[in-house]
Parts: sequence; structure tokens; C-alpha cells
Amino acid sequence: MKFSGFELFKQGLTGNKGWGPHWRTQKPRHAYDIIIIGGGGHGLATAYYLAKNHGLRNIAVLEKGYLGGGNIGRNTTIVRSNYMLPGNSEFYSHSLKLWEGMEQDLNFNTMVSQRGQIVLFHSDGQRDDAVRRANAMINRGDDAEILSTAELRKHVPYLDFDNSRFPIYGGIMQRRAGTARHDAVAWGYARGADKRGVELIQNCEVTGIDIENGRVVGVQTTQGAIKAKKVAMVAAGRSSQVAAMAGMRLPIESHILQAFVSEGLKPLIHHVISFGMGHFYISQSDKGGLVFGGNLDYYASFAARGNLAMKEHVMEAAMALMPIIGQAKVLRSWGGIMDMSPDGSPIIDKTHIEGLYLNCGWCYGGFKAVPASGFGFAHLIATDSPHPTAAGFRLDRFRSGYGLMDEEGTGSQHNLH
Ligand SMILES: Cc1cc2nc3c(=O)[nH]c(=O)nc-3n(C[C@H](O)[C@H](O)[C@H](O)COP(=O)(O)OP(=O)(O)OC[C@H]3O[C@@H](n4cnc5c(N)ncnc54)[C@H](O)[C@@H]3O)c2cc1C
Repeated sequence: MKFSGFELFKQGLTGNKGWGPHWRTQKPRHAYDIIIIGGGGHGLATAYYLAKNHGLRNIAVLEKGYLGGGNIGRNTTIVRSNYMLPGNSEFYSHSLKLWEGMEQDLNFNTMVSQRGQIVLFHSDGQRDDAVRRANAMINRGDDAEILSTAELRKHVPYLDFDNSRFPIYGGIMQRRAGTARHDAVAWGYARGADKRGVELIQNCEVTGIDIENGRVVGVQTTQGAIKAKKVAMVAAGRSSQVAAMAGMRLPIESHILQAFVSEGLKPLIHHVISFGMGHFYISQSDKGGLVFGGNLDYYASFAARGNLAMKEHVMEAAMALMPIIGQAKVLRSWGGIMDMSPDGSPIIDKTHIEGLYLNCGWCYGGFKAVPASGFGFAHLIATDSPHPTAAGFRLDRFRSGYGLMDEEGTGSQHNLH
């Protein structure tokens, strides 16, 4: 079914009884050309672009839970392209352009909202860094503006400018950045892939990867063995566990990232705001909840829930930046498992096993990457050569040291980039 104004009107008049399911319920067949392990944002986008851009149809996405139940449905929905270094910058620039055309492309309301993101700076050194970053973004063809404190007071008057622990010197604003409805992104790509013949199989955990003579030949699952010519691992926080099934040890650590939402409030925060003196960021959802988060919990874990120490740290950062938030009640908090790479940048590459492909290392910024990641990974799987926008995300950079993308200049410290 195609969504349109006319269809909405017609369904409204007929009791909304004509909407069908967005994708079929499938049982796995015994063989496919391509199997994708993981029905999160990246896996579903990969399936969609394989079908749409490369005309491939004989594909299954195997998801151990339900579609969109992983990090794609747990993130704080920020979309931006404020990267500076080559490798990342052209990739995220491409991704933001795909976000801008996503709703028309998928014929699905993913609620892309280009409300602008402001990253605050609090010292002369941070200002220098922000100006350099803004110039890099503009030179690449993206938008960036440096806002003075006076301009910020107009945009975000609720911040503590006059009595703050960390004085606000200004901010770097990307107007084309913003938010999108996270689970709708999974549903939109799932629907688009299903429409093009991809089979989406839920409650189907991959438990083994079959390899013969250095070549992948299929997978073992909780719904039986399935043969495949090509297998793509796109399991985000579980990447190291899935790759271990193929005998690989990835340079990935899984860490917890928490997020919080307040009770619904009247419109207050019209942008995405990032605090430059602590890992804290906030936006307001369309329902009115203040959605905010901070840094990783400081230990590796596969538990999708966080600890109290980080909750306290995030609340402290919130109060330091905007004491007004002390009046709001926190409604709930949750956690997700982040696939942290040593340089904070992802991996989209072939493996040493023929027909086995890897997509991981998204850290806490993988939501905004979903469209370009799916686009680039589909290109790699279909053509066996990297897409130009994702060519830097090679696995061997961690062995050779060549081509590392240390965006924050913090080295291989997972909780600092
Ligand atoms: C609290 C929080 C806030 C975040 N905020 C942002 C943000 O504002 N902006 C941003 O860009 N990014 C953000 N992120 C990061 C982003 O959500 C992730 O980087 C991204 O969603 C990961 O990719 P994915 O969507 O494919 O992951 P997932 O949705 O986790 O998909 C992986 C899937 O693989 C499945 N799987 C795992 N093992 C197997 C197996 N053996 N067999 C079959 N299936 C398997 C899992 O069940 C899961 O559904 C945030 C993350 C969290 C947790």
C-alpha cells in the first residue's frame, strides 16, 4: 500500500480498516543468495539498498528478536554531519543527504526534523576547534555557523549564561542537523525491502556461521540451517559475538550507553543542544518529552541497562547547563549496547573469509549513519568493491595503523571519543 494524502483521507472516512501489515511474516527457506545477520537499522537499510540499487531480491534478513528492537529503537535520534576528518566527513555528508530524501524515497513518515544542532563551546581553545571544524564542514559543502553568546541567548534563552560553572563562549550550529523518529526508520526500510522481495525473518537467532575451504556457505539458526552465497554481519553491539562464530576476533568492545526521557512538556527546546563541557545532549520529542543522554557507562557489558553512577553524572551535567530542567520529572531511562571501535569510526569491509562481510563499530553515532551505511554496505556486497563514501572504513586499519580516523584526537580510549 502506498501512503498518500488521498489514501489517508480515504482511510479516515472508512474507519482505518484498509491498512495492511507493512511486511510479510516469513519462515526461512533453505537457501538465499544473501543473508543479513541483524534486523536493526543498518541491516534493514542494507537489504533495502541491495534490492533497490542493485536489483538483488533473493535476500533474507535474520533477526534474533523483533525488527527494530535493538539500538535502532533505543537511541536519542540525533542526525548530523559535523565531522571534520576525511573518511568520516564525506560519509556522514552523504548520509545527511539521504536523510533529506528519505521520506519520499521510502514513502514512509520517518519524521525527519531538521531543527538544527548546536554544540556549545566554553573556552578559547574549544572555539578555535569549533571554527576549524565549521570551516571543514563548509568546504565539504555542508552547512555550519559559529554563534556568539548574544546570538545563543536568542536561540536558547533557557541555558544558564549568567551564573554557570562553565561559561558559554558560543556554539557551532548545523541547521540541517536534527532528529528523526528512530523506530519508524527501521519500519520504513523494512517495508521498502519487503516490498522489493526481501524476506524479513524475526525470532531467528544465528548461532553459527558455516565455512568450507575459506568460503562462507551458510548459517545455523534457531530455525534451522540456511545456505547462502554471501553472509553479511550487521549485529551492532553483538558484532564481536557474531564474528566469533566465524573464528574472528574483532577490535570491538561492547559498552552500555544510557538515555533518559522526561514527562511531556510544552515546547521548550527547539534544537538539539550538546554541552561542550561534559558528555551531555538534549532535545525535545514531538510528544513533549525531553530526551537526553551522556557518556558511556565505564565498563564493557552486554546488558542493555545502565548503572546509577552514570545517571547521576548525566543529571549533574543537565543541571550545570540548564538548571530549569530540575523542575521536570524523569519518566524513564534505558540502555543500549554500543559496538565501540578503537578510533571511534566504523568498519564496513570484506573479511578474510570469502563471501563474509562485516559492518560494525558504530559507537554511539550509528543512527545518523543508517542510510549511508546501508547504501555503502549494499554496494560492497553487490560489487565486491567499496563505495567511495565508505572506502576508509577498512578492518585492517587497526592492524596496520594506516588510515585510522581519530576524530576527537583521543586515541584508542573507548570512553573518550
Ligand atoms: C541510548 C542511545 C542513544 C543513542 N543516540 C544516538 C544518536 O542520537 N544519534 C546516533 O546517530 N546514534 C545514536 N546511538 C547509536 C545508534 O543507536 C547505534 O549506533 C545503531 O542503532 C546501531 O546499529 P543498528 O541500528 O543496526 O543496531 P541494532 O538495532 O542493535 O541492530 C542489530 C541487530 O542485530 C540483532 N542480532 C544480534 N545478534 C544476532 C544474532 N546472533 N542473530 C540474529 N540477529 C542478531 C539484534 O537483535 C539487533 O536487532 C545511540 C544508542 C543508544 C543506545
